[in-house]
Amino acid sequence: MIDGLAGVKNSGGTIVFVCSKCRTYPDHAYGAPNKDQLVYMLVCQKCGRTLGEWVSTEQREKELREFAKRVELLT
Ligand SMILES: [Zn+2]
Repeated sequence: MIDGLAGVKNSGGTIVFVCSKCRTYPDHAYGAPNKDQLVYMLVCQKCGRTLGEWVSTEQREKELREFAKRVELLT
């Protein structure tokens, strides 16, 4: 699940993900929305919004890779 994530190009031309509202780099975090299910999250350091949530790192990498192809780039 990706929500509220945008992209910017860094000086090397690589797309990096930021919060679409604050343009702040998100932090990787872990959470447990259900008692026994650990999820991997991306959380904005500034507004605290959850920008992404996945059940595994494999799923996270896969979805972020796909997302990079269609992400809206902020300039
Ligand atoms: Zn934010």
